[in-house]
Amino acid sequence: MPLLEERSLTLPDEAATARFGAALAGVVRELPPATVHVQLSGDLGAGKTTLSRAILRALGHAGKVRSPTYTLCEPYDVARADGSPLTVYHFDLYRFADPEEWIDAGFRDCFAEPAFNLVEWPEKAGRLLGEPDLHVLLQSDMAVADVSDMAAERRIATLRAYTPIGITLLNAC
Ligand code: ADP
Ligand code: MG
Repeated sequence: MPLLEERSLTLPDEAATARFGAALAGVVRELPPATVHVQLSGDLGAGKTTLSRAILRALGHAGKVRSPTYTLCEPYDVARADGSPLTVYHFDLYRFADPEEWIDAGFRDCFAEPAFNLVEWPEKAGRLLGEPDLHVLLQSDMAVADVSDMAAERRIATLRAYTPIGITLLNAC
């Protein structure tokens, strides 16, 4: 699928990132059971896990959200708006030395069932991961980070939709 739509958001602080996550979650919880694939890119500390945590909280997960840096994948059971079960798989592929690890770990199965797959460091799986519904690139705003302490919290999110579900997600933010 080609890139269908692109748009940038300014996230002035962490609360804005939380609202962004809640907007994405609001769409996912209304969708009928399907595989939803969202990729999160950006440097270490850009806010990928912070955004994932906000999404999971907004989906009703009350417990901890650990970064899957060492476990590679953390599963969560939450619910859709209609009360039906929704499984979220939160991946962090940072530690992959080779894209083939995606196959070895059996993670393809997570994409064969209706689940919400949130993937940090998708680049580490190369082309094996396939195209997402939505790709989010988080970047700190270096141009202003030197100017004030407040600006250090600012993030720019670039959203790219590759499918109709991705467009729905993008338009909700
Ligand atoms: P990543 O998963 O991309 O490596 P984390 O989410 O673990 O990044 O870390 C992001 C850090 O930046 C956290 O310490 C968070 O508190 C901080 N932060 C500051 N401003 C923001 C923002 N606007 N959005 C997300 N995180 C922010
Ligand atoms: Mg992270």
